[in-house]
Order: sequence, then structure tokens, then C-alpha cells
Amino acid sequence: MYATVIVDIANGAVDRGFCYRVPEGLTVALGQHVLVPFGQGSHVKEGFVIELSESSNLPKGVLPKDILSCLEPYPVLLPEQLSLANWMKEAYHCLLVDALRLMIPAQLRGGRIHEKRERIVALSEEAPAFSSKSAIQKDVVALLQKTGQPMAVKDIKAFIPGAAPAVAALLKKGILSEDRFTVYRKPSYGKVTDLKPELTEEQAKVLRDFTQLPGGETALLYGVTGSGKTEVYLRCIEACLNEGKGAIVLVPEIALTPQTVGRFSARFGDKIAVLHSRLTAGERFDEWRRIRLGKAPIVIGARSAIFAPVEHLGLVIIDEEHEQSYQSESTPRYHAMDVARRRIRQQNGRLLLGSATPSLLSYYRAINGSYRLLELQHRVENRPLPSVLIADMREEFLSGNNGIFSSTLLSRLKSTLDNGHQAMLFLNRRGYSTFVSCRACGYVLCCDNCDISMTYHKAQNAVRCHYCGAKKPLPRECPNCHKPFIKQFGVGTEQVEEQINACFPEVKTLRMDADTVTKKEAYEQILSAFSRGEAQILIGTQMIAKGHDFPNVTLVGVIAADTTLNFPDYRSAERTFQLLTQVSGRAGRDKMPGQVILQTYLPEHPVLKFAQRQDYPSFFQYEIAQRKKSLYPPFSLFIRLLLTGKDEEELQLRGKAYAMELEQALYAALTEEGKDDLLLLLAAPAPIARIQGQSRYQILVKLLRTKRLPAALHAVYDFETAHRDDGYLKIETNPQDMF
Ligand code: ADP
Ligand code: ZN
Repeated sequence: MYATVIVDIANGAVDRGFCYRVPEGLTVALGQHVLVPFGQGSHVKEGFVIELSESSNLPKGVLPKDILSCLEPYPVLLPEQLSLANWMKEAYHCLLVDALRLMIPAQLRGGRIHEKRERIVALSEEAPAFSSKSAIQKDVVALLQKTGQPMAVKDIKAFIPGAAPAVAALLKKGILSEDRFTVYRKPSYGKVTDLKPELTEEQAKVLRDFTQLPGGETALLYGVTGSGKTEVYLRCIEACLNEGKGAIVLVPEIALTPQTVGRFSARFGDKIAVLHSRLTAGERFDEWRRIRLGKAPIVIGARSAIFAPVEHLGLVIIDEEHEQSYQSESTPRYHAMDVARRRIRQQNGRLLLGSATPSLLSYYRAINGSYRLLELQHRVENRPLPSVLIADMREEFLSGNNGIFSSTLLSRLKSTLDNGHQAMLFLNRRGYSTFVSCRACGYVLCCDNCDISMTYHKAQNAVRCHYCGAKKPLPRECPNCHKPFIKQFGVGTEQVEEQINACFPEVKTLRMDADTVTKKEAYEQILSAFSRGEAQILIGTQMIAKGHDFPNVTLVGVIAADTTLNFPDYRSAERTFQLLTQVSGRAGRDKMPGQVILQTYLPEHPVLKFAQRQDYPSFFQYEIAQRKKSLYPPFSLFIRLLLTGKDEEELQLRGKAYAMELEQALYAALTEEGKDDLLLLLAAPAPIARIQGQSRYQILVKLLRTKRLPAALHAVYDFETAHRDDGYLKIETNPQDMF
């Protein structure tokens, strides 16, 4: 018997299978984690068995080396995971080993984590003959008689301090017998009471439609906030379990709170396993093993849980499917949704994407028929959607209010607090201070070539376009209304809190942003303090947009609803709509109706109007038309090649040479017929031209999405391979941002 083994070394030169002999007496299966001698010096390396065969594929006369041993008694990789890794290698142009590493706990490699075994003792057949002068020995025997079953030694020690020598003595006398068994270290799942409600008609229809979907297919569940999507997920999982299959549920990392997990655990108990970044290494390993060994057929986790070793995978659910966190930002740069689609096709399972604000791409696919569109249009028990008011900050300014808060927001805050309710104030700080606009007319300074807002650079007191590099000084007056009120914005959560404390001195506030949440527990602490009512107002960045449910929150204020709208990115409208809908959904989750106030300098902007009505379908129609007009995704694909290096001049020269070479390669791949598919190839210093002493240069490629796209992508990947060892290059397809 021969095995093809890939060694666990991330290096393109050895990223392939090597032939080994399976020695007599060793049982080796596909996916087994093994030790092998490798290379000239036959150093012992870890590897994975990726193929088994009857014959050696080495040239005649070359004898294969022997596999030394297996590291675990079971294969750590399922056959379908091996094939998934091979697919990833092609699709994301990554090393096979890098893909395989995603599928096992990191500490398994290098033997850094082990099973935890616990000693248990039981009364033996000799026990009735027991007599002793030792009081503590008598206590131990009495305890075991009372419980009537074997006990862990550590539990006995908890009942009877200092019992260890007595247990040892009893074992020696043969009064006790000893055993060892594996224990699973388990994270706490959070507790909620589960009432399993009767489904609404809408929910029942969605469940029916989804469970009747043919295998291998994907459905998009578009459901307004509070429409009961999670209950639908729970029922889909139940149906999947009844078919004897397993399920993976992905939620954004930040939403993986005890509250979320608690809902699943209350329904499915021990059948669930949880994978997220706050687990200890031991917990992660044990949760992974419970999945691998079939004890937990339901996995709930963040992005990388899509690689969990669930056998007979019947269902994948991706909640908040529009979230950016499903895109990995490190190699392999996979998107969890693409991996999920691959897995369910392979296993004939089904994929359910859910959101109140679907990504443009998913909704586009749904109305074009490649996904099945399912809808929940109403909140459960006909609770009303929150009513949304737009506060026009231009008017406020012209009538003499130059503070952060509109008079509308202040008066609503007051009545909310008077009623004993809570409020949330939301400020999207990221990129907040960077755009330039006129406080009198709302005009936003845009690039002449790009139709994208320009970014303020404090050091030069100038504005720049992050897409084409155009630059101009900060104007003294508004080019539109000629008043002198044009300036960059600069308000942070701290300032909001200060002013709230000034307006409402007796009111307790909590603040949550990157400064106050330096540790992961702090996030939980702040949210639970707020939910216990220890403060009346929670002020925060997008971190407060999801996660907990706060039944007592009836008012949500968005300090500057248009900030993300002016973000220099073609996705800014989509992200703004998503954010505003999400934040609005925080208000009035329980029986009391909610109120939302959006403060803005652009009250008639269509995106704000759609957000006010919480009308996703109309927003979609508007935005997809914009994308089509400018040939932005989903009609095209952006690829960014980022070069970094110490020497700026050398980098520029190299960047220009790369751009020329890449352009030729792309034209060759697209052929004469497709030469217009290359919409843009732009080589310029990156928007942030220098980070930590490194110069940055980028080549931005925009390709029309046609049948020739795969060929073009291959050309880009071949280009990357050819230059892999130059030490300059990083390639991102569909980059999340382009700084
Ligand atoms: P979504 O995920 O769409 O925002 P949830 O699933 O969290 O909505 O549901 C909102 C609230 O309604 C939850 O408190 C949930 O327990 C409750 N709920 C869901 N379905 C029903 C139902 N059929 N009957 C009564 N209450 C329900
Ligand atoms: Zn520009």
C-alpha cells in the first residue's frame, strides 16, 4: 500500500503530494495526519494523506520512504474536505497546505494540544468487606455509596478536601477500581428560555419552500428586522436533523454572543458545537472533535466554521449574509459564501442566506433566478417597524443650532428618558472626519473624474481622490453656495458622550467604541450592563448595531446618517443602507413601538429616503441601476495588486513595468473579441502611499463580468506566480477597501 502525503510546510516548492510506503501493521486512511521523514536529511515532518494507491508512482528503482506513524487514531480530514481544499487551491490560487490548515484546529499541528482525560473511581467488588480506621477513607466510600455511581477523582476532592491520599490507599487495597475517560472541555453556551412558538403563516411558508428546494440549491431569505428569521433557521435545522444530516450556521463574529448561541443550545442541547475566536485552545480542539466524531451535528460559528468537519452536511445557514466579515482578509482570501456553495453542491445539501438588507449581489442573483427568493415581510405578532424621522441638520444650522444634536433628537431623548426607557446613539466614526462638506447646503466635495467624494488629508490641508489620485487644496468657500461653511468633519463618540452628559447631567451613559473595547470581554460587559439598565443611554460606533436585543430601547438616534454615504467607495450607498436599517432595527424590539431619528445634511438623498421607509426592494432597484451605469460590481470585478517596498522610486518603476506586463497578459487572455472587457487598469501610488515606513503602489484592474472572466483571472494568477519571489506583490480580488 502506498500513500501520497503532503507535508505541512507552507512553501510553493513542496506544495504537492509525495509518495510514501505504508509499513506492515500501520493502518492509514485518507485524510490521516501522519509523521514522515522528509527531504535530504529525512527530517521528521507532519503531513496529511491525500491519496492512497496500490502502487508507487516513483520512477523505477526509487524506493519510497515509510510513513512513521499516525498522529491521531482517526483521519483528521474528511474526503470532502480534501476535495474542497483542492478546489480552493484553484479558486483562490493558494497553497493546498494553507487550505488544509483551515480545516483543523491550529494547535493540532505540532502536537500542541491533547485530549483531556479524567480519572474516575468506582467501588469494586471488594467494597462490602471494607473497614478502616481512617475517617477520610470512610468518607470517600460513603460518598460513593451515596451517589451510587462512579465519580471523577476531582469531584471527590471537591466534596472531601484532602481526599487524594485516601483514594490512593483505597485503590491499593482494591476497594476502589479506577478508569480513565475522555472529557470534552466545553465553552458556556449562554442560557435562554426557549418557548418554541407556533410559526406564523409567513414563516411556515418559508420553511415549506426551503425544505422543498432541490439539493445543491441556494435560497435567500429577505426578512425585515424582527420578522423571525432565527426561528425559521431553527426549524430548517430541525428538518435537516430529521433527515439524519448535519448543519453549519454562520453568524458574524460580533454577533456570536451567549444570547445568540443560547437560542440554539436551548433548542438542540448537546447536539450543537460552537466555534469562535474567544474559545481557549482546549475548547476549540474539543468542540472540533465533537463535530469530527459525530457527537455534534450542528455547528454555530464565525466565518471559518464553514470548514467544520460535519459529515453528511445537509444545510448551511449564513445569517446577516451581507456582512463583510465573511470575506477572509488573509490568505487564502476565501469568501465563506463561495465555500458554502461549493460544499452544499458537493453534498447535495441546501444553503440558506438570510438578511434584512441582503447584499446587492445576493439579491441580484435571487431576482435573476439563480437563488430562490424567500420573504418575511412582517414583524412577528404584527409589531410595527420603528417609525423613522429625518432631522435636517442644514435647517438646524441655519436656525442657529451648531451643536451635534438636532432639537428633534433632544426632545425625543428627553421624553424617552422621562418614560423610563433607554436610548442608543450611533455614530459611524470610521472615516468620519475625512470627507469635506458644506454645512449650509450639504454639498460634498467630489472628484471631477470619479464621482466619488474626496478625502481630507490633514497634513497637507488638501483633499485627494482615492480612486484616481487627483488632489486639490481645501476650498475656502463652498463651490456650490459660496458660503464659507465648507469644512471637514470631526466628531467622535467621546464628544457625543460629553455633550450628552452636559445636556442630561443626571443620566448615566455608556460608551462603546474601539477605545473602550480593547478587550473582548469589555464588549460583553458594556452590553450586559446596558441590558441590566445600569445606564439609560448607550453611545457607540457600528459595534452597537448588532448582537444583543434590548427590549427597553425605544429610541435610536443616528448622529450623522450620511457619513458612510460619502465614503470613497462604490459600495458606500449599500453599506449606508445596511447600517441604517440595522441600527433602526434596534429600536422597539419588544412590545413597545420604536422611534428612530436620522440626522443628516442630505435629507433628500434617495438612500436616506429608502432607509426611512425601510424599503429594501426600492433601494435595490435604485442602486443596481447606478452600478449598471458605472459598470461597478456585480457587473464587473475589481482586482487590486498592491506593491510594497522601502524604496519609493524603485517601487514606482517596478509598478509601471508590472502594469505593462499585466495589461499584455490580460489582453492575451481576453482575446481580440474580449478586449473591451478590461474596463480599467490603473497604476498609481496607493491612496495611503506610505504605511509604517513602507511605500505602497497599486495596480487597480476592473474587469467586465463575462464568460471570459475566468480566463482573465487565470492570467492575473499566473502573473502572481511568475512574480511570487520578487517580494513585492499582494493580490486581492474584490478588495473590501482600496487603501
Ligand atoms: P429576526 O432574526 O428576523 O430579527 P427573530 O428571529 O430574532 O427575528 O425574532 C424576533 C422575536 O420574535 C424573537 O423574540 C422571537 O423569539 C420572536 N418570534 C419569532 N417567531 C415567532 C413566532 N412565530 N411567534 C411568536 N414569537 C416569535
Ligand atoms: Zn478621482
